[in-house]
Amino acid sequence: MPPPTKTLLSVGESNGRPTTLVLGAGMAGLAAARTLTDAGYAVTILEARDRIGGRIWTNRTLDGLALDLGASWIHGTDHPALPTLARRYNATTVMTDYDRHTVYDSNGRLLDDDELEEMEEAFAELLEELQEWGEEQEDDLSLQRALDQFLQGESLTAEERRQLNYAINTTLEHEFAADAAQLSLWYFDEGEEIEGDDVIFPNGYDQLTSGLATGLDVRLGQVVQRVAYGADGVEVTTAQGTFTADYALVTLPLGVLQSGDIDFAPPLPPAKQEAIGRLGMGLLNKLYLRFPEVFWEEESHLLGYMAAEKGQWGEWLNLYALLGEPVLLGFNAGSYGRQLETLSDEQIIASAMQVLRTIYGADIPNPTSHLITRWATDPFARGSYSYLAPHATPADRTTLAEPIDEVLFFAGEATWADAPATVHGAYLSGLHAAELIQNT
Ligand SMILES: Cc1cc2nc3c(=O)[nH]c(=O)nc-3n(C[C@H](O)[C@H](O)[C@H](O)COP(=O)(O)OP(=O)(O)OC[C@H]3O[C@@H](n4cnc5c(N)ncnc54)[C@H](O)[C@@H]3O)c2cc1C
Repeated sequence: MPPPTKTLLSVGESNGRPTTLVLGAGMAGLAAARTLTDAGYAVTILEARDRIGGRIWTNRTLDGLALDLGASWIHGTDHPALPTLARRYNATTVMTDYDRHTVYDSNGRLLDDDELEEMEEAFAELLEELQEWGEEQEDDLSLQRALDQFLQGESLTAEERRQLNYAINTTLEHEFAADAAQLSLWYFDEGEEIEGDDVIFPNGYDQLTSGLATGLDVRLGQVVQRVAYGADGVEVTTAQGTFTADYALVTLPLGVLQSGDIDFAPPLPPAKQEAIGRLGMGLLNKLYLRFPEVFWEEESHLLGYMAAEKGQWGEWLNLYALLGEPVLLGFNAGSYGRQLETLSDEQIIASAMQVLRTIYGADIPNPTSHLITRWATDPFARGSYSYLAPHATPADRTTLAEPIDEVLFFAGEATWADAPATVHGAYLSGLHAAELIQNT
C-alpha cells in the first residue's frame, strides 16, 4: 500500500505567503528557517531524527554535565556571528588556552617546554616549506604523498618519525577529520582562519540551536526520501507523506548527499553531482571518560601523547581545567577513528585506558562512566564534517551551494567555502540561503 499522502504546505494554503520546506534541523537549516519565518514566510522544517541540532548534540546523561558529542568550539570569536547568538541566548563560554599543553612521548615521558617548542616550530616550518613546494607542483596530490616526496632521502629516527606523526595527527588530521593521505596538499587549509579565542559552552552548544528553533515549525522523525522539483515548486516525500511548497532548502550533510539515500527528480545537475563526489566527508569521534578523581595535570587544557601508532589517542581535552569536573575528552579521526567505530564500547575504553596508564601509571582508577560517538555510521550524518580531497577545490563547495531553477536551494557546512566544516560556516550558509530565497 502506498504511504498516505499528506499535503502540509502548499501554495495558497498559507494566506498567500511564500512557502518553504527546510530539509534538516541543524545549524544551517535552523538559521535559514528562523530568518525566513521572521520575514513572514511559511516555513516547515523536516528533520529525520527525534531531535534538532544535527551535528550540534549536547548530552546530559553523565550526572547532568552538558557534554557536546558534535561541535564543541566557536573557532575564533573575532567574527561576531556566533558570539552574538551566544549572547542572545545567554550561553556562557570558556576559552581554551592551547599554550597550556602537556605532551608525553610513547613511553610516557613528559616532554619539557624546550622540546615541545622545538617540535612545534620544526613542524610549522616543515609545513610552510611543504606548501611552498606544493605551489611549484603541476598537479595536486595528497598531503601525505607530498610529505613523503618532500622528505625523501631524509633519514628520520624512530623518535623523529613519532614526533612528525603526532604533529600531523593532532594539528591536521584532527582538525580536518581525515588522514593526511586523504587531504589535498593545495587546499587542505582552505578558507579564512577567524582570529580570536576558541571557546566552548560549559552548558552546551545546543543552547544556540534550541534558541534559534523556538517557535519554528519543526517536524521530527521525517526522513526525507525524495525531492522532486520544477518551475512550479517542490514536492518532498518522507515515509509519512508528501509535502509541497514554493521552495525547498536542502541542508542535508554531504555524507547523506553522497550516499544516494535521497532521490532527486530530476537528478541533480552533473556539475553538482561531480562536486559532491570530489568533496570528502571526514571523521572525528569523541570519547568522554568520567573518573572518580583527577590524576592528570589539573591546569593543562590539552594533554598529548606521541603514540607509536599514528592517531592512537594523541590528544585529550582536560575538562577539569575548563569545567571543574574530572572528565577527559579524547579525540580520534580518519582511518583510526573508522577502525575504532567497529569496536565495542569496552574495547574502545580499554585502548584509551592503555594509553592513559602508560602516561599516568597502572594505578589510575577506571572511569565511572563514558560517552562514545560513532559519526561515520550515523545514517543522518555519515561522517563528521567535509574536507577537500586531492583534486577537489573550494569551487566545488560553491557549485554545491548553487540554487536550481530558483526553487531548490542548498546550505550546510560543506557549501560554505569561507569557513567550511564549522558551525560558523553552517550558520552563515543558512543565512545566505534565506537571503537568496527572499530575493527570488
Ligand atoms: C565530532 C564533531 C566535532 C565537531 N567540532 C566542531 C567544533 O568544535 N567547532 C565547529 O565549528 N564545528 C565542529 N564540528 C562541525 C559542526 O558540527 C558542523 O559543521 C555543523 O554543525 C553542521 O551543521 P549543518 O546544519 O550543516 O549540518 P547538520 O547539523 O548535520 O544538519 C543537517 C540535518 O539534516 C538531518 N538529516 C540528515 N538526513 C536526513 C534525511 N534523510 N531527512 C531529513 N533530515 C535529515 C540531520 O539529522 C541533521 O539534523 C564538529 C562536528 C563533529 C561531528
